[in-house]
Amino acid sequence: MSAVAQVDRQPVAATGLDYDAIVIGAGMSGLYQLIKLRELGLKTRVFEAGTGVGGTWYWNRYPGCRFDSESYSYGFSFDKELLKEWSWSEHFASQPETERYLNLVADKYDLRRDIQFRARVVAACWDEQGRRWTVELEDGSSHTARFLITAIGALSAPTMPNFPGMADFKGQSFHTGMWPKQPVDFAGKCVAVIGTGASGVQTIQEVAKTAAKLVVFQRTPNWCAPLHNAKIPPQEMDEIRARYDEIFKRCEETFSCFLHTPDPRNTFDVSAEEREAFLEKLYGERGFGIWVGNFKDLLTSRAANEEVSRFVANKIRQRVKDPKVAEMLIPKNHGFGTRRVPLETKYYECYNQPNVTLVDSKATPIERITPSGIRTSDAEYEFDIIIYATGFDALRGAFDRIDFHGKDGVTLKETWKDGATSLVGMMQDGFPNMFMLLGPHTALGNIPRSIEFNVDWVTDLLRHAQRTGTTRIEATEEARAKWMEHVMEAAKGLLSMEVDSWMTGININVAGKQTRIVARYTGSAPTYRAWANDIAARGYEGVTLG
Ligand code: NAP
Repeated sequence: MSAVAQVDRQPVAATGLDYDAIVIGAGMSGLYQLIKLRELGLKTRVFEAGTGVGGTWYWNRYPGCRFDSESYSYGFSFDKELLKEWSWSEHFASQPETERYLNLVADKYDLRRDIQFRARVVAACWDEQGRRWTVELEDGSSHTARFLITAIGALSAPTMPNFPGMADFKGQSFHTGMWPKQPVDFAGKCVAVIGTGASGVQTIQEVAKTAAKLVVFQRTPNWCAPLHNAKIPPQEMDEIRARYDEIFKRCEETFSCFLHTPDPRNTFDVSAEEREAFLEKLYGERGFGIWVGNFKDLLTSRAANEEVSRFVANKIRQRVKDPKVAEMLIPKNHGFGTRRVPLETKYYECYNQPNVTLVDSKATPIERITPSGIRTSDAEYEFDIIIYATGFDALRGAFDRIDFHGKDGVTLKETWKDGATSLVGMMQDGFPNMFMLLGPHTALGNIPRSIEFNVDWVTDLLRHAQRTGTTRIEATEEARAKWMEHVMEAAKGLLSMEVDSWMTGININVAGKQTRIVARYTGSAPTYRAWANDIAARGYEGVTLG
């Protein structure tokens, strides 16, 4: 693979600054942003807490971790040469393959020379007079730059429960989002998994293969659907490669950048037989079709949602032999798709295995972690390994871990005390020259598609700043308020807004995050992009350039 031409870097202007730009995080967004900033000739430093690149795909190396988006819709689209040369081995690639892929990108563009690893950013302060950010690292060092770009992920601040006795456990314990690099052997071991979200489901189905005993502590069942993963033989990969333009064009047009998009019909527009056949087809298809390619009223009509939930509940009943266990696995407090649907491979069949037990930890809550295992309200269990698949302080959690001080020393935490706000997820008034690549209320969905858009948008704005000699960029309060009005409007009438999940800002493990809010942008990705593009097309209306 040939290296791409490097654009000469200009020296930092005579400003006394260490860098033109600092990027926090070397995941997919940080890597792509670094490539684009080099194109602008900006001297850039990326600070990364881990010891390698990859972000989500660096930290989440738990057993069974893999894409839920089709691999070929998830990779970077900006480098045609890379698209030609890289082969995905499966329709939904595993974490090791994705980590290899991102390392290849880092090698190809020689990115590591501008990345400082083991460098956790703890604070960032804006200096109005100097028009610069000072970034502080955990090691006490500080670094200055004109621009600050956060590439810190949307699901990157893992949360642990606070059961008494956790520190006394004598066995091994891990959080899925902070999995160690050395392999963990489950053979012959007694293993507990706490949590049954997308991470828990992927972990459970893998651990169940070798553990002597696996006990799953489920507080709320989730509606899961089959992934239908398969290998991609070389000839099929060639065919996929030939369709890349079409694939990425489709991702640009769909509601949430997946290959799937809502069916134009409503659930009850069709006969019962047609409906059953359509749902059967979706249940048999790869990926998120059953969630994001379902009837268009799935997430707005209660009756429609009940109909699809009934269909999926019956599938669970067919797949789980013990009817009592099947009922435990069927969600009763929320409808299908109103939380993120975990995709699975023989997940439900795990509960037919003699080595797997399901515990309802709402009925019999975990009371404490003991030195040898877990005590619930009605039993005592012994374990060698406890796996916490307890999720993340989503969306703004990664921001809350850094002490951001904006104009007049006001902190981001204070600014967001009644809920995070932003202008198109990328800027916040009061925090000049700071750009958020996966900030609150950006489009999420198939995340790399949103990352590429956001990085390009920020890069265009910085290019504009270079051309116009601008050294200070800040969103206006009015533009931010108008965007937030649209964010609130888009969430109206959605059944998902009635349900507790990270998507509605609930995180029981984090103090102060138990109130339902509009935590993410729920409109379509094309609408999001049109809004952001419109700002640029109007000469950055809603942004003060100085
Ligand atoms: P999650 O969906 O928030 O699930 C956390 C689980 O832990 C829930 O079952 C929760 O129960 C349980 N839990 C949390 N605290 C608990 C406590 N104190 N006691 C008992 N149970 C507790 O987190 P996740 O599974 O890590 O997934 C988060 C998101 O990451 C996903 O929705 C998805 O967007 C992304 N993800 C993507 C992939 C992929 O694309 N392949 C894979 C994994 C994750 P309750 O439901 O009762 O709160």
